[in-house]
Amino acid sequence: MTDYIIAIHGGAGTILRASMSPENEKLYLKALEDALESGYSILRSGGSALDAVVQATVFLEDCPLFNAGRGSVFTHDGCHEMDASIMDGKTLKAGAVTGISNVKNPVILSKHIMENSEHVLLSGKGAEEFARKMRCEFESDEYFFSQFRYDQLLEIRDTNTVKLDHSEKKFGTVGAVARDVHGHIAASTSTGGMTNKRYGRIGDSPVIGAGTYANDKTCAVSCTGHGEFFLRAVVAYDISCLMEYKGLSLAEACEVVVHKKLMPAGGEGGLIAVDSASNCALVFNSEGMYRGWKDADGNGHVSIYKD
Ligand code: ASP
Repeated sequence: MTDYIIAIHGGAGTILRASMSPENEKLYLKALEDALESGYSILRSGGSALDAVVQATVFLEDCPLFNAGRGSVFTHDGCHEMDASIMDGKTLKAGAVTGISNVKNPVILSKHIMENSEHVLLSGKGAEEFARKMRCEFESDEYFFSQFRYDQLLEIRDTNTVKLDHSEKKFGTVGAVARDVHGHIAASTSTGGMTNKRYGRIGDSPVIGAGTYANDKTCAVSCTGHGEFFLRAVVAYDISCLMEYKGLSLAEACEVVVHKKLMPAGGEGGLIAVDSASNCALVFNSEGMYRGWKDADGNGHVSIYKD
């Protein structure tokens, strides 16, 4: 058994080789490799799964290619409202944040909520106030602006639709799961949500049990996909329950939830998961998912498409 492992994702959706330029493909693969390596280096030096998932997620939040942190999609009102969450499988503590603006790294704020407050989920202005108290970094609206994302909004702003960032243009939510040398596991997820979202819409990403879950007894899971379906299916916790109460392996539990439950219901997306025996699963029912994994023996890879 390999004694530590990390997996990351950068969103699942209609990601087709035919519509990806070789230059963009290179950019994505490089970003995934670098993000993976940033978390992996923490595990290699004996650090915790918790620190490793934060590090990898921060890397992806700082990268404009992905729909989280800097690269977050626009809301209907032309703003950014970000969601993130984190869970520690060792303590079963969790922290999450929803509907925040201008906070550079929502995943770091989630960790502060978990460690330095008596709460699990903070929203909007209150969460931003807490972020200031925790001395989180803030960035201007310009930092979060990209013409590409803005054009995505303009395309559908006058319609009633919201759009999964990766349903067409193929970039998405980010997340990480890891198992450390001490046998503990953790998960984190961060997102800008869906383009043109309004009314304070919240997806699965900041909801513990839906988009993120970790328990040393079972698994650590980070999801990406059409949030409303993932919320209704309580995806991350369902995988843990199938392992805990039904004795399914990690791979079996992920298969059941992603292919047999979500898919027939129309819930497009995927997830990454590890268990405390260092098994890892990267499963999706969409055309592709930006993803990667690496274990203590140096095995692993980053990939985008189904094959
Ligand atoms: N699950 C996220 C949401 O619905 C979107 C994504 O995974 O890209 O907010």
